[in-house]
Amino acid sequence: MTNLIEQGSIEQDVCDFATKLLERRGGLVEWTDHNDDAAREGTAIVPTEIADLFDADSETVQLSTQPGSKGWCLSLATDFLDTASQLLELEPRVGTFCIPEMYLKRGDFEELVSREFSWLNARVRLQETRPVRVEYHTWWFHALFVSEDRWETRFPITVNASSGTEVQMPNPLDLWELEPHPTACRQPPTTYKRAVLQAQRQVQELAGKFLARMDGRLGRDRRRLREYYNALLRENHQKKSRSQTKPDPEQQEARERAVKLEMRRKATELDERYAMDLTLEPVVLTRMEIPALAIDLSVERKRARRKHTVYWNPLLKQLESICCTRCGSGTFSVAFTNEEVDPLCARCAE
Ligand SMILES: [Zn+2]
Repeated sequence: MTNLIEQGSIEQDVCDFATKLLERRGGLVEWTDHNDDAAREGTAIVPTEIADLFDADSETVQLSTQPGSKGWCLSLATDFLDTASQLLELEPRVGTFCIPEMYLKRGDFEELVSREFSWLNARVRLQETRPVRVEYHTWWFHALFVSEDRWETRFPITVNASSGTEVQMPNPLDLWELEPHPTACRQPPTTYKRAVLQAQRQVQELAGKFLARMDGRLGRDRRRLREYYNALLRENHQKKSRSQTKPDPEQQEARERAVKLEMRRKATELDERYAMDLTLEPVVLTRMEIPALAIDLSVERKRARRKHTVYWNPLLKQLESICCTRCGSGTFSVAFTNEEVDPLCARCAE
């Protein structure tokens, strides 16, 4: 490829992006020389299934930054992004990575565990501390609220695949220590349900302002509706008292009933217009295997006893919470059930 494109413009970024995308899909891209004012022109030879996306007759696709030209228009003023996103659809949505080595804390975990955790109804003793490798699954979700208005966002939820607890991890892709780990992580991810549960909770917080704004608008519109129809009802009454001839009470009542019915119908319409519809979709999964410390605890609850494991996370340099078996939240104030010795958060244990 002759790279004659000047640095720094959006047009250049779009051309670079499209070139990389086509090359990644097995295409060969060639740009022709151009002067600064002219549109950039080029050709790409691509596999047939890619050519179909551009309605090309052959495997050669014309490229141009001029909107309206034949082939693929590399301009944000066209449907460029739609076509690009179709090419991106073919990308894998799961990345597997690892960090081979990390410093693991040494020292007194007995003290650390008793400082971080409150055991609400059991005797807990530290049994053993073991270096292990743990997989963390970072699920990226796309959330879309549709109501009278729309609101959308993307956000990650990371779950420790061994313990199932949610962990506030940095974005794995920002970590310089990260390496590709294509051979590992062959097991299907078991963390999806847990991640969705947490995502449903978190999206309510993230969309808090939007939801409050919609509530506010609905309240305002309901108030206006009531005021309008109450005014109509008042008018009806006043007519009654002002009129010279004796009013027909049946007619008055019928009018009042009609106004009230109309008010209810409008209120239902309003509720439908403001009904909140949430779509939560997983977009990408990053699986990352890192060294960590497993801390085995012996838990005695009444006459039952069970082993539970907590993890010391070398990226956060702290202990991770324990996952409540009832609601799925992570907690450091832990109660245990009588028979199974399952961990529960304080709220679920009440
Ligand atoms: Zn709970």
